Amino acid sequence: MLSFFKKRKITIAIDGHSSCGKSTLARDLARKLKYVYIDSGAMYRAVTLYFIWHKIDIHNPDEIKKALESISIDFRYKRRKNLCYLNGELVEDDIRNAEVSDLVSDVAAISQVRKKLVALQQQYGSAKGIVMDGRDIGTVVFPNAELKIFVTADLEIRTHRRFQELKIRGMEMSFDEVKQNLIKRDHIDSTREDSPLCQAEDAIVLDNSHLSTKEQLNAVLKLTKLHI
Ligand code: C5P
Repeated sequence: MLSFFKKRKITIAIDGHSSCGKSTLARDLARKLKYVYIDSGAMYRAVTLYFIWHKIDIHNPDEIKKALESISIDFRYKRRKNLCYLNGELVEDDIRNAEVSDLVSDVAAISQVRKKLVALQQQYGSAKGIVMDGRDIGTVVFPNAELKIFVTADLEIRTHRRFQELKIRGMEMSFDEVKQNLIKRDHIDSTREDSPLCQAEDAIVLDNSHLSTKEQLNAVLKLTKLHI
């Protein structure tokens, strides 16, 4: 089956609500297809972390403009993971902390921020052979992506997944705090003016509430074969 995928490289856009398993799916898919994987959420988190570290007023466009000029984000593939670096510093764990999770959707609603990150994301994708996950990948970043998946899952199940993930990373947050954070981010992400989270018209919906990671990967590999 793998030799089949070598024929033609495509762009795969994966969107959906917070903690619905998009990143796991996107990472597994990229590994299997030998594609580049980009976690666009990590980029919004990295900008948010910079804003927190440098006490940037997110209501002041001049401060934001200056800050954005000082930010560089890149990914480096290490230990079978694509790790996020902010101005050369590894921030993979810092960008998942509660303070960042609490502020990130407000930062992601700022058009200046989106403009910079969308341009960077489009550069990453210019050579095809990419899987990117986020909220606006199929609608704004790669509207011409050959395959678009919109992932959904039950809120309780999403909360449980994020709770477990944070526990493994050694981060303390109660089940209810995790749940409230997901509800809050989904609300801000879906109602913001600039590029709200919504399903692209040509996206295929995947409800993975009751699928294992292996089952969801196999389902999408089948779809990928149809789109190559
Ligand atoms: O994917 P993750 O949950 O880590 O993303 C963190 C936040 O970044 C989201 O809640 C959303 O506010 C923002 N985001 C976005 N557009 C994307 C990816 C993430 O607005 N393409």
